[in-house]
Amino acid sequence: MDTPREAFDWNPNRASTGMWSHPDVLPFDSPPGICASAGGTPLTFAARLSDDIGCSLWLKDETQNPTGTYKDRGSATSVTYAAQHDIDALGTVSVGNMAMSTAANAASAGVGCLVLVPSTIPPERLELIAQYEPTLLEVHGDYGQLYYDALALNETEDVLFVNGDSPLRLEGYKTLAYEVCEQFHPETPDALVLPASSGGHASGVWKGLCELRDAGAIESVPRMYLVQASAANPIATAYEAGSDVVEPVEQGETVAYSISNGNPPSGNRALAAVRRTGGGVTSVSDAEILDAKRALATRGGLCVEPASAVTVAGIRTWVQSGEIGSDESVVAVLTGTGFKEMGRPDAAEAVGRQIDQRELRSGVRAAVESMRSD
Ligand SMILES: *Cc1c(COP(=O)(O)O)cnc(C)c1O
Repeated sequence: MDTPREAFDWNPNRASTGMWSHPDVLPFDSPPGICASAGGTPLTFAARLSDDIGCSLWLKDETQNPTGTYKDRGSATSVTYAAQHDIDALGTVSVGNMAMSTAANAASAGVGCLVLVPSTIPPERLELIAQYEPTLLEVHGDYGQLYYDALALNETEDVLFVNGDSPLRLEGYKTLAYEVCEQFHPETPDALVLPASSGGHASGVWKGLCELRDAGAIESVPRMYLVQASAANPIATAYEAGSDVVEPVEQGETVAYSISNGNPPSGNRALAAVRRTGGGVTSVSDAEILDAKRALATRGGLCVEPASAVTVAGIRTWVQSGEIGSDESVVAVLTGTGFKEMGRPDAAEAVGRQIDQRELRSGVRAAVESMRSD
């Protein structure tokens, strides 16, 4: 069939400009390379998870950013700034998503990127970062302290370290608040739930919400909720103690390795965001995290990192305790994709039965029958 091209309503201008769709609130000119494609991620209603959990659950799918995490919003602003201010090298301290995101965005803009990694970095994570060929420097010492030691170099060296809660990053992170509120318009969600580690993301999102409120664009600010892993929960500990000051905690091992900061640089600010908006902070066990990751896949169709699944685990406990009402609309921010790691270690066991191809018909019939009875 011959369909005339004119029959389609082509509108090249309609394509989302993502996080740059409100240029007046960002102090940058147009972004170079993949920096332009950060943000603009879907917000979808999760009907089956809503039924399961008992509230109106919306998923903000940040896994669709260029390197699979919300960090691209902050890398996009940082790299754009560097490209426009003749900064030769951006630096970051990271063993994972932050490094990958900074390196990828810098590569596409022709800005140098220096990544400081600890000697304990797992090889599979290093492989992900190395694809973009940043300059990698393995540092032996105290990784927690490296965050601050690197920032101190900004004053003397020709490199600009943009670590987790750098102001340049926060400008990018705040665009998530603009986007969610625009996607929800004319309503405002009752609650916004994020995982928290350094507290940089939460700080940026809070900044965006405050700007929107001050501009009169939203009537009420959603309550901000943060979820941590039990093995690294300094913000939750301070919240539960009724304190406004986050003290460092001993950090243990957790499946949610992207949120394992025991001494968060923006912990106090993230906690203030929660208190000012009337939200809460909690922490969840690895078993609850893996259960939520599975529910997101099997009832939501989304493959996320354990660090993102904590949101759904936290929402479940808040709905059970009545902190979040069954009639409330809740946005879970799914910060990172699960495609960077293995899916189900038990996949071999998940294969039900083996059959010979000659028995295909009866095999398929039996499988369909067992699906019905599930
Ligand atoms: C970095 C990261 C977080 C935590 O963000 P902070 O700004 O450190 O609080 C959460 N989820 C994923 C997937 C991340 O990569």
